[in-house]
Amino acid sequence: MTLRIAVLPGDGIGPEVTRQAVRVLQATAAGAFQVRCEEFPIGGNAIQQFGQPLPPETLSKCLESDAVLLGAVGGPEYDPLPRAMKPETALLALRKGLGGYANLRPAIAYPALAACSPLRPEVLQGADVLFVRELLGGLYFGEPRGFRDGPPPDARNTMIYSEPEVERVARVAFALAQTRRRKLTSVDKANVLECSQLWRRVVTAVARDYPGVTLEHQLVDSCAMRLVTAPASFDVVVTENLFGDILTDEAAALTGSLGMLPSATLGGAVDLYEPIHGSAPDIAGKGIANPLGAIATVAMLLRHTAKREAEARAIEAAISQVLQAGYRTADLKRGDAERLVGTEQMGDLVLQAMANSRAQSARG
Ligand code: NAD
Repeated sequence: MTLRIAVLPGDGIGPEVTRQAVRVLQATAAGAFQVRCEEFPIGGNAIQQFGQPLPPETLSKCLESDAVLLGAVGGPEYDPLPRAMKPETALLALRKGLGGYANLRPAIAYPALAACSPLRPEVLQGADVLFVRELLGGLYFGEPRGFRDGPPPDARNTMIYSEPEVERVARVAFALAQTRRRKLTSVDKANVLECSQLWRRVVTAVARDYPGVTLEHQLVDSCAMRLVTAPASFDVVVTENLFGDILTDEAAALTGSLGMLPSATLGGAVDLYEPIHGSAPDIAGKGIANPLGAIATVAMLLRHTAKREAEARAIEAAISQVLQAGYRTADLKRGDAERLVGTEQMGDLVLQAMANSRAQSARG
């Protein structure tokens, strides 16, 4: 098998963390399967080279690949550009072009990083939540939208969901819950919104096809509260676009650093993988960015696109080991006992931990 990956390093720390992720992917493949990584421009660097944030060739090369690995785009130097020319426009166009509708965001509380979380360790302990956010519908895409001059001026957005849109993302979430602790929390606002009443009805109907999974419904406001009071009580959470946007940022904060978290967008023509952080212009070029979110993104790619669960777990175990051994990039460092490392060195440590585990299992 040859895994064809379109790599879009992007701007700021994007290329720095993506380089480490690609090293880990290539080391994982070595001897087991072929991987071909090809880089294409996106975001600010594409504007500089080609005068547009998502050159058509980048999108067509992405559509010819098995998966897309994205760093991050954006930077203050592009702020004065008109909206259609901004690097971030490329992200939305890429997501739309690839067509993925299920955005997976795991929020895992690594025990070694308990000191980085705003929550007390006993509250955080055991938290391992997989969010499945609907990505192509709801308030962000509904029409009509826009401003009216008035008087008085007003503005509107429209939340629309169709039954098939809810059903397809619910099926992804149920299938994932089957591979985990078999519990699905569907989050809505069914006491107020008709869209949420439809959402609840469709998810309940889909549940009949997954009898091994326990389904619960929860209102989004109480879910936000439960995330900080009992995060370990969740397994898989499925929700619509806007609620998912807000809840996943809340969950990310609980785990300690934006730099730790991966994401995957599935269901379209080609799967898209990216760490959840942005281009972090404040630390770009300093060699101090945390590459672990980008590296964990490679684990998701191996799990969901390549169907290589063992290799995915090996990468995740290596990340845990490195943290357990006390190595920290600057965003994670809290105590004197921890050892500060840069981006490249963190990549080296993960590769070393993977090699050690392989050598250990070869010895039997
Ligand atoms: P950001 O995620 O880039 O940074 C927020 C804070 O987290 C910063 O202090 C940054 O230093 C820190 N941080 C983020 N990732 C880190 C990592 N891997 N290691 C260590 N520290 C890390 O968000 P922002 O500052 O709001 O946005 C900066 C730029 O990124 C903007 O242009 C924004 O539009 C863009 N952005 C892009 C994406 C994307 O490409 N997917 C996502 C969010 C923001």
